[in-house]
Amino acid sequence: MNSPLAHRNIPITIIGGGIHGISIAIRLLREVPTAARYLAILDRHPHPLTQWRHKTERQGMTFLRSPAVHHITPDALGIVEYAELHNRTSELAPPYSQPSTQLFWDFCGDMLAELAQYRVYHQFEATKLQWDKGAGKFPFRLISKDGDGFRSRCVILAVGTDDCIYVPPEFVQWQRQYPDRILHASEFNVEDQDGRDSEESFVIVGGGLTAGTLAKSLSERRHSVTLIARNPLKTEQFDFPPVWLGPKALAEFADETDFQRRYEVIQQNRGEGSITPDIMEALMDATNIKMYPETRIQKIVSVEEGSCRGGVTPSLLVSTNRADIPNVSRVILATGYQFNLCRYGFLRELIAQHGIPFVCGLPRLDADLQLYPVENLFGSGTIAQLQIGPASGNIAGASLAYERLREKLLQILR
Ligand SMILES: Cc1cc2nc3c(=O)[nH]c(=O)nc-3n(C[C@H](O)[C@H](O)[C@H](O)COP(=O)(O)OP(=O)(O)OC[C@H]3O[C@@H](n4cnc5c(N)ncnc54)[C@H](O)[C@@H]3O)c2cc1C
Repeated sequence: MNSPLAHRNIPITIIGGGIHGISIAIRLLREVPTAARYLAILDRHPHPLTQWRHKTERQGMTFLRSPAVHHITPDALGIVEYAELHNRTSELAPPYSQPSTQLFWDFCGDMLAELAQYRVYHQFEATKLQWDKGAGKFPFRLISKDGDGFRSRCVILAVGTDDCIYVPPEFVQWQRQYPDRILHASEFNVEDQDGRDSEESFVIVGGGLTAGTLAKSLSERRHSVTLIARNPLKTEQFDFPPVWLGPKALAEFADETDFQRRYEVIQQNRGEGSITPDIMEALMDATNIKMYPETRIQKIVSVEEGSCRGGVTPSLLVSTNRADIPNVSRVILATGYQFNLCRYGFLRELIAQHGIPFVCGLPRLDADLQLYPVENLFGSGTIAQLQIGPASGNIAGASLAYERLREKLLQILR
């Protein structure tokens, strides 16, 4: 079936209907409701924010890390007022009013209902993006997985980081050997463990909030967990210092002309991950969680053959420099993402053809978030880190990105 976008000319296209794509669209539509006639949001999923919902549910995340003021609309107090209206203020956790995941999701649900009336969201997996420089007012051509195509005047990439999962090199071979039992966290769903009678033993690799949340969720389901991190475990409320939302740090960042240095600043400020105080407390209190910081896994072998004959469930033996962990049913790699825009297949040809410059996988976009030298191609989310700084991939990064994009988008609508 043809997409309703097929053969049309769309002034503004947002690729990605996640937190960033939706936040930008809502902000634009609140300012200019008639923009709906000129806007399309594309996503491979049938509904907006699917990816966000999957990720939080699959980990068993119960509260957001960020305060209630960061969400998908421009009203800072939107979630707080929603909680008051629905008698749900108990779902705003101290000390920073972090909303429960369910409250955040229900609030987003209302906002998505507002967006639905504009009919701007389309299930459309972009498999190719072309820019025909000088080809009239609509130089971008987008092609979907089903072969539908349309043209656009401006494209905003809000594609998240999912195509860039990171598996540390030492795990690649083991994962190839035991693909069903060594999984990246993005492939694992803690809810699949619900209702299982037998207790299992998990090894979780990583020292960030995903590792901590998964460990807590599995321990609550009565499984035993060993959390292995190569560095000391750090406890922090936020995943970047909040100064990065203020004008002073951002102005200093903008003054840095060496983009390699900007990249290093981002790395220093985001670090290798940390765990929030409430989750850390839960991990320390749980009797079925062992924590091995500053530990390296040296070997993973299957003990399947010997034990199967005795009727025991096949398992892994995980050897570390600290201890051997026997009878492991699964190893979950909560090792995050390593962003590299070149890994997005639909952009590969465009990047090569127009020589978009990169620093460590991030495009060197200009201050308007344009992927120079391609005109009117913009980025929001992790893509825009070299301009927006360490907060770029977070929820708050979407409002920072909109401030930069706003003028260009309004110009296109005029
Ligand atoms: C479990 C978890 C909890 C988090 N908690 C917080 C928090 O509390 N506070 C905070 O500030 N941040 C948090 N983050 C970080 C960040 O805010 C989220 O990851 C957020 O979802 C990023 O939004 P995004 O729009 O950039 O990416 P996504 O939400 O991943 O959206 C990208 C979208 O692009 C689509 N897409 C990609 N390629 C294509 C294509 N070729 N064609 C069509 N569609 C495509 C995908 O389907 C996806 O829907 C959390 C992240 C995770 C994983």
